[in-house]
Amino acid sequence: MSNEEMRKMKSGSQERKEARQFTEEEIVQIQKERDSLDSLYYLGRMINCIEGVNIILKKRYDFYEKYEVPLQEFVLWGKYLLTYRGTMQEIYQCKYFGSPAKITTIKDFMMNVNSFRRRELNAFPPRGCFCAKCHAPITMDDVIKGNYIFVYNEFTHKEHNKK
Ligand SMILES: [Zn+2]
Repeated sequence: MSNEEMRKMKSGSQERKEARQFTEEEIVQIQKERDSLDSLYYLGRMINCIEGVNIILKKRYDFYEKYEVPLQEFVLWGKYLLTYRGTMQEIYQCKYFGSPAKITTIKDFMMNVNSFRRRELNAFPPRGCFCAKCHAPITMDDVIKGNYIFVYNEFTHKEHNKK
């Protein structure tokens, strides 16, 4: 890539950034929405059921899509990462000190782990989700333990796939 192209690219990204200007009213509105979506108290109350987790996922996703303003990152049950752009990632190969908290900020989480890896979660069970193999519901307990997989567009308990 030539210097000229580099320069153009840089100014291009600058323009995009500058195009994203908010009015004072918008800033107040964004702040208000972000305060609740970034509140440990609010999130902690919402994640008691599968439906609640789905609601906060949608709200955080919609928020980032709309404003492109980064959110705070949180870790749920040491297993799921709520990303700054409103998506959810799976945490794996995690070396924990003690036992994971129900919900914690990414900063506190990182102070309690040696190392961890993260990857995109391909699907999170919706409310009233049933296992395609045994037809029992995928429960909150399954979610917390990560005892489910999503393959061929279906949710099943992990144990059916153990050989
Ligand atoms: Zn099952």
